[in-house]
Amino acid sequence: MLGPPGAGKGTQAVRLAEQFHCADIATGDIFRANVAEGSQLGLLAQEYMDRGDLVPDEVVIAMVMDRLAEPDCQAGFVLDGFPRTVAQAEALDRRLAQLHTPLHAALNFEITEEELLRRLVGRAAQLHRSDDAEQTIRHRLEVFAIKTRPLIDYYMRRGLLVNVDAIGPIEDVTKRILADLEARGA
Ligand code: AMP
Repeated sequence: MLGPPGAGKGTQAVRLAEQFHCADIATGDIFRANVAEGSQLGLLAQEYMDRGDLVPDEVVIAMVMDRLAEPDCQAGFVLDGFPRTVAQAEALDRRLAQLHTPLHAALNFEITEEELLRRLVGRAAQLHRSDDAEQTIRHRLEVFAIKTRPLIDYYMRRGLLVNVDAIGPIEDVTKRILADLEARGA
């Protein structure tokens, strides 16, 4: 799943994983759990997360590769928040080639900046996420534009990109995604 913070990737990932009975791998959630536990990974990730920066590629890649080796991933998986850089996408491609598991689709959540800011400011108030303060939100959107947006092109060139209109009720967005995936024979 590709899309800026606040586009609804997490919400839709949970619904898709239920629908397809597969694993939901949310890298942000894994990092937050590690921060809460005070693990070494959590301590390392926290400073990047609080600034709204990306955790270094080698750390994220190693973590996701370990996660993909767990048994529940054999039935397939939804990746929420990974890859976020071209280096991460290349590492994923290499691993999927080894596993003979092709990627079915890269869902690109399309949303206006105005709607994003509205949602993120609401989420900051509700969840008290330390990275949802307004200046951090703006920085995360910049990081997305610079580091993650090139992946739209990356997956378009591979014929895997599915653009999703991410504005509207949650159920409607899920229906749009399922219809698109069905059209692709996923
Ligand atoms: P998220 O919940 O997906 O918005 O992720 C929250 C934070 O976790 C991000 O702002 C990053 O600091 C870190 N993070 C999550 N996924 C990645 C990733 N694939 N690469 C680098 N950092 C990540």
